[in-house]
Amino acid sequence: MVMKSAQTHPVAEGGTPAPRKSVLFCPTCGHRAPTEGNWVVTERSVDGDHRRAYGCPTCGRTLVVQPVFEESIPA
Ligand SMILES: [Zn+2]
Repeated sequence: MVMKSAQTHPVAEGGTPAPRKSVLFCPTCGHRAPTEGNWVVTERSVDGDHRRAYGCPTCGRTLVVQPVFEESIPA
């Protein structure tokens, strides 16, 4: 009896893998753009944590503030 290890690679429907882009949407004015888009990015340190805020270029609303993960973490 042979156990088949099936579905190691799930196939995306349509055959085209969709790029994982984070899209931000402003509920105030409806502006929509990827995080690499024209958002007003503000970086600052809060209590030693590096955080990034995305501001809407249209209405000026701050949408999200997320921590920035540094790749070089000393062990
Ligand atoms: Zn907006």
